[in-house]
Amino acid sequence: MHIFAIANQKGGVGKTTTSVNLAAALAIQGQRTLLVDLDPQGNATMGSGVDKRALTTSIYQVLLGLATLAEARVASPSGKFDVLPANRDLAGAEVELVDIDQRETRLKEALDRHSEDYDFVLIDCPPSLSMLTLNGLCAAHGVIIPMQCEYYALEGLSDLVNTIKKVHANLNRDLKVIGLLRVMFDPRSTLSNQVSAQLEQHFGDKVFKTMVPRNVRLAEAPSYGVPGVLFDRASKGAQAYLTFAEEMIQRVKTL
Ligand code: ADP
Ligand code: MG
Repeated sequence: MHIFAIANQKGGVGKTTTSVNLAAALAIQGQRTLLVDLDPQGNATMGSGVDKRALTTSIYQVLLGLATLAEARVASPSGKFDVLPANRDLAGAEVELVDIDQRETRLKEALDRHSEDYDFVLIDCPPSLSMLTLNGLCAAHGVIIPMQCEYYALEGLSDLVNTIKKVHANLNRDLKVIGLLRVMFDPRSTLSNQVSAQLEQHFGDKVFKTMVPRNVRLAEAPSYGVPGVLFDRASKGAQAYLTFAEEMIQRVKTL
């Protein structure tokens, strides 16, 4: 079982879109996949076709030890993957975890019990370097960082990389950056191409070969509760995530 956190403390950079579409694309490739929604906004949950308002059990109860992962997970009605769903309850976990032992490794413990169930686990992290994100980073073997190729993209990156280094040193020796994924890419923009080239210079083969273009079909899909790769499989955005899934399947063979 390979566990990846999709993280970037900036909001709106494509974490959830990447999590949902990679989960659906891996499932299309026959990979047994679990998508973990670690964001109280519950966007990955809704985007997978699961109604966050109707949940009786969610990741919140799992983190606090009030339910098991087996009790809380649901099958995505639109994709062939499982979801450990989230809703606003999760916002409270941040505070409530403070009094709990081993609070950084609650998610890891829950996933450890299911290491035979899945080939891939993807964790959609919230836009912060909070206790929730820390749970994601402690549970993961690697981090996938989606980023837009714009001027300020590199600015937040060093904070994230430093956090990953600290977690690696103190809490999770398995953790590494798997790669940077260029998303919402505009091949006609000079700036996009410049930043993209800079990323390749600095990070070398840590930059995934696949680039996800800006594509309106990916943005439309969540309102139907269907992953973009299934909503309009022929669209350029869907094709990119299908290719990215293949790249990930190859990449894990080298880990
Ligand atoms: P995050 O989870 O990092 O906050 P999201 O995945 O929710 O980011 O993306 C932010 C917004 O951008 C959403 O409205 C989403 O539909 C849109 N979006 C993400 N990726 C693309 C893309 N490749 N093309 C067009 N729109 C996108
Ligand atoms: Mg999100």
